[in-house]
Amino acid sequence: MSGQAIQNVVIVGGGTAGWITASLLSKILGKNINITLIESDKIGIIGVGEATIPPMVNFNHALGIDEKSFIRDTKATIKLGIEFENWMQSPGSYMHAFGSVGKNFPFCDFHHFWLHSQQLGIQSDFWDFSLNYQAAKQHKFAPLQQMEGHLPGLSHAYHFDAGLYAQLLRRYSEKNGVKRVEGIVEQVNTHPADGFIQSIGMANGQIIQGDIFIDCSGMHALLIEKNLHCGFEDWSHWLPCNRAMTLATESQLPITPYTRSIAHQAGWQWRIPLQHRTGNGIVYASEYMSDEHATQVLLDSVEGKPLGEPKIIRFKTGRRRKQWHKNVVSIGLSSGFVEPLESTSIHLIQTAVIRLIKHFPHQQINPQEVASFNSQSQQEMEHVRDFIILHYKLNQRTDSDFWRYCQTMDIPDSLQHKLSLFKQTGKVFCQPNDLFTAVAWQQVMLGQDWIPDDYHPLASSLSKVQTEELLANLKLIIERNVDKLPSHQQFLDSL
Ligand code: FAD
Repeated sequence: MSGQAIQNVVIVGGGTAGWITASLLSKILGKNINITLIESDKIGIIGVGEATIPPMVNFNHALGIDEKSFIRDTKATIKLGIEFENWMQSPGSYMHAFGSVGKNFPFCDFHHFWLHSQQLGIQSDFWDFSLNYQAAKQHKFAPLQQMEGHLPGLSHAYHFDAGLYAQLLRRYSEKNGVKRVEGIVEQVNTHPADGFIQSIGMANGQIIQGDIFIDCSGMHALLIEKNLHCGFEDWSHWLPCNRAMTLATESQLPITPYTRSIAHQAGWQWRIPLQHRTGNGIVYASEYMSDEHATQVLLDSVEGKPLGEPKIIRFKTGRRRKQWHKNVVSIGLSSGFVEPLESTSIHLIQTAVIRLIKHFPHQQINPQEVASFNSQSQQEMEHVRDFIILHYKLNQRTDSDFWRYCQTMDIPDSLQHKLSLFKQTGKVFCQPNDLFTAVAWQQVMLGQDWIPDDYHPLASSLSKVQTEELLANLKLIIERNVDKLPSHQQFLDSL
């Protein structure tokens, strides 16, 4: 390859990962490279993945996809956060609401002031100060950038039909010159000297040559594992859920602008409202719950008439040891999977493509580039992994061995450090590139009763009266802004 620019990119797989990769690569590098995408209608796509997180808004924006037409074309609804129900000993709930809570102070986060107020005996709930939470629970939404006093506005993501999104991105990519090849990959031809992939052999005899191959073949991991044997770091001991039973139901009104995650005896159930149906599924650990039991729990608890039969999906949580190896980059489920509790997979696809573009090789693949890509991918996945484990570790349910196991299991040192620091001091810190901000961590920890023993000294520089005034003002501003918002349904109807 030396001396010649890398030009021919072959994407294997046309699920969400394949088409997201094709769309951004063609938008940014379309003039420099030829892109071919192979997919098989016979094999199909995994067909789940309907909840997203706020960076999705920016991703669509970067592609130049207009929000209104996106919402129409993918039957999307708005998502302002995830409500976690029954993760504690007694029935109850809390929300990981997107956006900020309270007011951002430069040296000391808002929650320290709230913790101080609790000590002073001032009655309030932490989520009284979350605009996203208040709007979500009142089923309201309209774009809102900022409130008075420079307080941040709403932060939103979407629930959407992943199949329709893949179709939208396919149209987008094909317009940008991506060539789609339909058929089954039967053979992978490698260079005898260095093991780099040279071409893909299709079942119909067609040979597709490439300089760089993107493995978006989902859990098949056709190139990165079946061919290059990169290995898999198994995280099941921290995240023991390994199956999902899914079932779509007819829509229920009102359409909630948030995802629900409801804990059950050995796992949890999602409820994701789209415009034309509701996505439901129970995620469970097969060691603690049989498929029959999971099916029954799901059928007993869904609201609305089922559209079809429950469908089982098997998975393993963990990550591919090398996301990029030789001339293969794995993106999507082929690169690993952290279970869907915080709807992170589609986001990880988007950041992987962005990272690939930043690292895109010029004339040959440089091992330092590959190492840099892999180390950034690893850090990102481990951060997400810790945040998901946090929910399980802090559960307080006592109704099954599954939840008791999660309470007592060892956790990664990185997470243990965060938990101890927060418990002892109320402080939580994130790295600039971390997906989940300190406010997200605070909400899950406080929501699951991991209440700090202390708070930042700056919080006690306000007297009781001043603290009361601060909280009352913030609450009032949020209430006033939520009052002015239209309902989520009105917003959708207006499109
Ligand atoms: P797939 O959709 O499986 O696509 C694989 C592609 O490879 C297909 O086009 C297939 O035809 C092709 N292919 C495979 N083998 C061959 C072959 N031999 N020849 C030709 N083509 C081939 N993510 C979120 O962000 N939010 C969520 O709410 C969410 N919920 C989830 C719930 C569950 C239970 C699971 C398991 C995952 C969830 N995810 C979620 C993850 C999300 O579904 C995936 O990240 C996303 O769909 C991307 O999948 P993919 O494109 O990697 O794989």
